[in-house]
Amino acid sequence: MRLVLIGPPGAGKGTQAAALSERLGVPHISTGDLFRDHVTRGTPLGRDAKRYLDSGDLVPDHVTAGMVRDRLAHPDARHGFLLDGFPRTVPQARELAALLGATGSALDAVLEFAAPEEVVVARLLGRGRPDDTEDVVRHRQQVYEQQTAPLLAHYAALLLTGRAVGAVEDITARAVRALSEAERRAG
Ligand code: ADP
Repeated sequence: MRLVLIGPPGAGKGTQAAALSERLGVPHISTGDLFRDHVTRGTPLGRDAKRYLDSGDLVPDHVTAGMVRDRLAHPDARHGFLLDGFPRTVPQARELAALLGATGSALDAVLEFAAPEEVVVARLLGRGRPDDTEDVVRHRQQVYEQQTAPLLAHYAALLLTGRAVGAVEDITARAVRALSEAERRAG
């Protein structure tokens, strides 16, 4: 299963990805986590990326794409993965298609977690990550609307949308149902 998760910051993609990764037996690959790990380790990539993370802007595509290419080359991702936070722009989606195409594979589905802005902003302000100040949180929502939401149309043929409001387990159950429905349709 090769899956991409899309949703506004605060939609709970990370939480859902962890649950789905266990159920589907594929690795959870979060570009946000990969970047934060680089920042913590003080690598050159982390030093490049830090100011973008702090401001809520996107890290430039060539930096992000290189990091994803390396991660997808690990053996654990050969038979599937759950990508969380990538692609976040249409050019990144093209890059991903090219990366997968080079090994003769392709995405199976794109799962959208939809939640109203007031709900996600309130969740993020309660979370307390260093980039979760109100200004940065609002800015990340704008970046999502402008740069990432166009991916929903780009991926129309693969898109499964689930409401990301309510109990964590209910959201997971809806996602699993949407995926098996899509599998059934694909035969
Ligand atoms: P959230 O879902 O709350 O926005 P993430 O952990 O997914 O948090 O991302 C945190 C930050 O990492 C983003 O604001 C951005 O600076 C950077 N980032 C993550 N993924 C990407 C990506 N695909 N392209 C560019 N920047 C990214």
